[in-house]
Amino acid sequence: MTLSLEGVGVWFPTGQALTDVDLVAAAGRPHFVIGGSGSGKSTLCAAVTGLLPGSAKLTGQVSVDGHPEPRRGSVIGVVPQSAMTCFTPVRRLGGQLAETVRHLRGERGPEELLELVGLEAGALRKYPHELSGGMVQRAAIAAALAGDPPVVVADEPTSALDRDHSRDIVALLTGLGSDRVVLVTTHDFGVVPDDADLTVMLASRVVETGRAADVLTTPEHPYTRDLLAALPENGLNPLPADRHYGG
Ligand code: ADP
Ligand code: MG
Repeated sequence: MTLSLEGVGVWFPTGQALTDVDLVAAAGRPHFVIGGSGSGKSTLCAAVTGLLPGSAKLTGQVSVDGHPEPRRGSVIGVVPQSAMTCFTPVRRLGGQLAETVRHLRGERGPEELLELVGLEAGALRKYPHELSGGMVQRAAIAAALAGDPPVVVADEPTSALDRDHSRDIVALLTGLGSDRVVLVTTHDFGVVPDDADLTVMLASRVVETGRAADVLTTPEHPYTRDLLAALPENGLNPLPADRHYGG
């Protein structure tokens, strides 16, 4: 199972949000996309999941195992950037999950889905606001798994969480099975596992891609180097305001 982007571009009336993006994510090897705010991470996810607004113009090709236009829900599970907004606040989690399972004709019930993401069945009786941020994120992943999709795309699933909870959620996503494609965006190098694939984005383009361990230890692009130097553990060096990265 392979998710491929070939020469993908996205234009909004306000400007170009993705430029000539090539990316291959294979089952069994989680793929992380890292980049600053506005670099195009959410646009990339929307292009993959078919969730671009009507005003957007998509070029290039997104395919799963060579099939263009993969179906959302059954082929691609989507974990949205703000997990809280994927549930309505006025209904308990159980009913909402059951509805998703019915809609996607899923084989796992709500309770089994929660078990997959490490939540107790008691959460089914709760309203979304009664759950912690980490629990809602887990519930959103459970909903994305309802149709048992071979591809799971999560857009900044850890942006609202602290590092420890972030690592738990990342471990959950990357542990979803060796026969699934898992694509995760983040702006935090600290959550990227060494054995994942890593694509670095800057201003709508891919600047670097490779095994995370290699990119993180021997970054080739000056932007990746500067991003790494800006990490607290590497001395918290601010990104140079006057540096131009080319491209
Ligand atoms: P990121 O997720 O990395 O922060 P986005 O993909 O959200 O980046 O944004 C990339 C660029 O596309 C930004 O310049 C942003 O303003 C623009 N953009 C994103 N969504 C829309 C939209 N719906 N309409 C117009 N411009 C958009
Ligand atoms: Mg985003």
